[in-house]
Amino acid sequence: MRYDNYIGGVWKKPAGGEYTPNRNPHDPEEILGHFAASTAEDVREAVSSAKKAFPSWKKLSFPERAAYLKKAAEIIRGKAGQIARDLTREEGKTLVEASGETLRAVSILEFFASEAFQPVGEVIPSVSEQTFLFTKREPLGAVGLITPWNFPIAIPVWKMAPALLYGNTVVIKPAELTPMSVYHVIDAFHKAGIPKGVVNCVFGTGSVVGSEIVQNSEIKAISFTGSNLVGRSIQERAAMQGKKVQLELGGKNPLIVLDDADLDKAVEIAISGAFRSTGQKCTATSRIMVDAKVYKAFRDRLVKKTKMLKVGNPLKPDTFMGPCASRGQCDQVLEMIEAGKKEADLLVGGEIPPKPELVRGFYVQPSIFENVPRDARIAREEIFGPVISLFQVNGYDEAIELANDTFFGLSASICTNNLTLARRFVDEIEAGMVHINSETAGAEPQAPFGGGKGSGNGSREQGKAAAEFYTQLKTVYMDP
Ligand code: NAD
Repeated sequence: MRYDNYIGGVWKKPAGGEYTPNRNPHDPEEILGHFAASTAEDVREAVSSAKKAFPSWKKLSFPERAAYLKKAAEIIRGKAGQIARDLTREEGKTLVEASGETLRAVSILEFFASEAFQPVGEVIPSVSEQTFLFTKREPLGAVGLITPWNFPIAIPVWKMAPALLYGNTVVIKPAELTPMSVYHVIDAFHKAGIPKGVVNCVFGTGSVVGSEIVQNSEIKAISFTGSNLVGRSIQERAAMQGKKVQLELGGKNPLIVLDDADLDKAVEIAISGAFRSTGQKCTATSRIMVDAKVYKAFRDRLVKKTKMLKVGNPLKPDTFMGPCASRGQCDQVLEMIEAGKKEADLLVGGEIPPKPELVRGFYVQPSIFENVPRDARIAREEIFGPVISLFQVNGYDEAIELANDTFFGLSASICTNNLTLARRFVDEIEAGMVHINSETAGAEPQAPFGGGKGSGNGSREQGKAAAEFYTQLKTVYMDP
């Protein structure tokens, strides 16, 4: 089947008439559908439709706009089973995770619909008795949303929901690898009766569709989630036009295990954080600092459990870990593993699983290295795959120093029952999101999400913080 762009309230063939196949990473011979390979002309049409729809969308009340979010949420919930299967088939994460992500998209829409009844400005005391001084938040206009493949439904929805609720119109470009999940979201808004032009979706490549969104002067803001390289180049290009930009980039997230930690729990936290979604999470655990007093016990349990993980077809209910999302992604992970073999000691994994039924797909084994020098590539670069680097440290001070010795600052975790050290960790770790006795991955719709240092540009998504990016403040002095 062919999937067209969604522009001005209708499904439209791409200007060049070209389509790209969407493949299953478990079995690349299986094609889910062919998606529009759009041109810059398609983007310009989508932007002009978003621009045209903006004035009347902006005029609707918050509850009126929220009603479309609620309706889309109901529609997605009604076909969550089918959407989750498609998500697994195009991205490769297990069905359990895909179902969780689909329901997360529903709760994001419901959360932002409920924000319609929350205050969005403040009353400020004036020096003049007569003056009513207040702020209000106003939408920006047509905004561009550029999304990655690793959370193909949750990330698009956590950008679309606040953008729409606060009165903006949207042009979204899904990742090339995972257009189907976004198609389901757009279809839900279409069926919910969203006014023409408020939501527009253009499928295609970053270099054509993404670039045109970035440079189009009618796009007032860009929210981007993806790699550092692309994010920084978008920031540079957008800055020339004075566009607002939100960047959510990579991570190299640490987990510290102190000598008093519950080691079984710490092992569960490490495995889930590092290997779920095949390690393809910006918040995945990738470096683990373990106190020397418990290093051997922790390492042995971690290795034993890792060897027992079931890798295979992500649609099967007992599978723990599916394939990488693409051949390119798989090759990059294998390349980093090869680098790791030269730099450190491989404890487990390190290869393509030797099962004939997995050879066609993009599989790698969950892998763990020890004796990793701190300047090794596997210790410093984002791998975006199921690979752990283990470090032996002497106490909290050495652990926190090593944890902070990274370009990134997205998420971090500590396993300890020592409240004083947990409190110090909260204060001293350089990360946007901090976990005590829980894994580095995790994002609830009502809480701000984002990182510092090389992991972003300080902007936050989700929760009340989302209003900051999708609105501009107006300060009003009102006198009789
Ligand atoms: P990517 O940067 O290759 O692509 C992201 C999006 O940008 C895609 O839609 C792509 O088509 C588009 N794009 C590519 N080139 C472009 C260009 N020149 N102009 C405009 N758009 C362009 O990233 P990816 O491989 O899809 O995703 C993996 C990366 O995303 C990892 O680095 C990961 O850490 C990061 N990520 C971060 C978060 C977060 O919230 N911090 C969440 C998920 C993923």
